[in-house]
Amino acid sequence: MSQLPVPEKPYPDWSRFLAALWQHGMSVQNMKPELIEEHIRNATPNLVGAFIKRNEARTVRPSSFLACARQTYFLVSGEEPEPMPDNIGSTFAVGHLLHEVSYAAVRSALPDGFDAQTEVPVYLPKWWPADDLRFNHSGHVDLLLSAQEGPRSEYIAEGAPEMILVDFKTKGGFSYKKHGKTVFGEDADGFGYLAQLVVYADATKTLNAGAILAGINRDSLTQPLKPRFVEPKALKDELVRVKAAIGMALEGQDPGEEFLVRHGKEANFFCGRAGKPGYCAFKKVCKERETRDYE
Ligand code: SF4
Repeated sequence: MSQLPVPEKPYPDWSRFLAALWQHGMSVQNMKPELIEEHIRNATPNLVGAFIKRNEARTVRPSSFLACARQTYFLVSGEEPEPMPDNIGSTFAVGHLLHEVSYAAVRSALPDGFDAQTEVPVYLPKWWPADDLRFNHSGHVDLLLSAQEGPRSEYIAEGAPEMILVDFKTKGGFSYKKHGKTVFGEDADGFGYLAQLVVYADATKTLNAGAILAGINRDSLTQPLKPRFVEPKALKDELVRVKAAIGMALEGQDPGEEFLVRHGKEANFFCGRAGKPGYCAFKKVCKERETRDYE
């Protein structure tokens, strides 16, 4: 049986429902051959592209340069980000593959009365700057899950919104573990997952429903999906922060080491301070223009 069976008791929320759906659809007993074929086909150009072209963004996108106000400022003022390692292709390729396989699993297990839209193209919200040299204007939402009221109440407890936005994130084992404990809106989010989520939630008008960041463990592929619900308040607070960061960048105001100020020592891992390698593409220029002592 490919559909997720009706549970004895409804799942408490969309997150738990999604985890069950994904797990069920991933089984060789339930994956629909025509869907996995379709999604593997969709993945192929990205898999090939991951190995033969550089994917670095030179524009501000929901997925890049929004984690810290100074990143946004540097990029908008024409500073060159450091390139990613030349051998990062496999990591990107595995990410693309796991996204498409997840879409096939979710769609295979989806009960009647539910709808799953994948890779939905979105136009960014009206407040997103019109300048298309420095800001990218299109994007794709991983998954929009929705359900009619009747089937929804059979599967998910009362009070669940009609539609929920889901962003899948493939993670190494350590980050996957950490993902399960992250307090979104408080903990350091150096890769800007929340910033990306909030731009897409605003673009799809789903802010009031909250949204889900679903972690996939790429180091141990039999591990369950780890969906984390992000409360509407955390999304709305992040939206204020992202808009402020973009506003300062457009006015040419250097916000200083904003991420380090916001997160203290927790930011060192991402900012490459205190002996840590760092992931920020502006970590060198940021240190050269230090506005205070962070060691
Ligand atoms: S190194 Fe840290 S504080 Fe500096 S730009 Fe990057 S994220 Fe921001």
